[in-house]
Amino acid sequence: MRRFVDLHAHSNASDGQVSPAELVRLAEAKKLAAVALTDHDTTAGLAAAAEAAVEFPHLRFINGIEISARFDTGTLHILGLAIDPQAPQLAELTHVLRDARDQRNPQIVASLQRLGLDISMDDVFAALPPGSVRGPKAIISRVHIAHALRKKGYVASVSQAFERYIGDGAPAYVEKDRLEPRVAISAILAAGGVAVLAHPTQLNCQNDAQLERIVRQFMRAGLNGIEVYHSDHTAYQTRFYLELARRLGLAVTGGSDFHGPAKPDVKLGRPRVPAAALTGRLAELVNR
Ligand code: AMP
Ligand code: MN
Ligand code: MN
Ligand code: MN
Repeated sequence: MRRFVDLHAHSNASDGQVSPAELVRLAEAKKLAAVALTDHDTTAGLAAAAEAAVEFPHLRFINGIEISARFDTGTLHILGLAIDPQAPQLAELTHVLRDARDQRNPQIVASLQRLGLDISMDDVFAALPPGSVRGPKAIISRVHIAHALRKKGYVASVSQAFERYIGDGAPAYVEKDRLEPRVAISAILAAGGVAVLAHPTQLNCQNDAQLERIVRQFMRAGLNGIEVYHSDHTAYQTRFYLELARRLGLAVTGGSDFHGPAKPDVKLGRPRVPAAALTGRLAELVNR
C-alpha cells in the first residue's frame, strides 16, 4: 500500500514548469498514493493529467484548482479539490479570472516600459517555459513576466524581478481585481469540490486567535477543509492547524506546492502527507 499523497502541485498550465503529464509521471516515480494538480485559476491542465494517470493504477489523480482571493494583510488562496473541471460556474469564474490577467499583464509591461525597460508581451510569451499552455487558455502571471525580465538581463533572478519591479509596492506593480473569497468557495462547491484554505501561514495573521476567527468566517461561506501540511509550514504550525481542523470539523489535506525546478527547495511529495491523515471525502477518494 502506498502511504503518502501530495494534493497541491502546479504545472505549466499556470506558473509551474513541468507539463501536467510529467507531473503525474513524477508522482508515480515517487510512489505517491495520490496527486492533485492545482494550477492557479485554471483547470486547463486537468484533462492531460487525468489521461496520463490512466497508465498508473496505483496512483489516484485528483482534479484541483488554486484560486486567489481578496485578503488585506496577506495571501489568500483557496484550493478546490476533487472538482468537476467542466462545472459551468467554475468555468465561468476561470474565464473571468483569465480575462482579468489578460488586461493586467500588458499594464505591467507598459509600466516597465515607462521605467525605460525594453520589454513587450511578445518577450513574455517568448520566455514561457517549453510546453506551456499558450493561446486563449494560457494563464500568464507575474512569474512569467519575471522570467522575461531575467532573460533580457534586467534582473539576475525571478525574486529580484519581484523586489525591483513587479512585486507588491514595487514601481511597476499593478493591482489585480480581487475576487471575494465567498465567490471562490461557492464556485468550488458548485463544482462538487472540497474548498480548502491553502497554506494558512501565508495569510500573515497576527496570532492563532485571529487565524481561527478568519477560518470560522470562511466556514460560514462554505469552506470545508484546511491545508495542514505544506512546504511553508513549521512543525508548530502543522500541529496547530491539525488541532484546529479537528476542533472545527474541517477536512485535513496537504501538499508540497511543487512548481518544478525554478523552486528547487520545494520537492514533489515533501513534506510527507500521510494518506491516513486525510479526512472526509478526500480520505474516501484516496483510500478506496
Ligand atoms: P500573479 O498571480 O500574476 O499576481 O502572480 C503571483 C505569483 O507570483 C504567485 O504564484 C507567487 O508564487 C509569485 N510570487 C509572488 N511574489 C514573489 C516573489 N517575491 N518571488 C517569487 N515569486 C513570487
Ligand atoms: Mn505559483
Ligand atoms: Mn498558493
Ligand atoms: Mn500553489
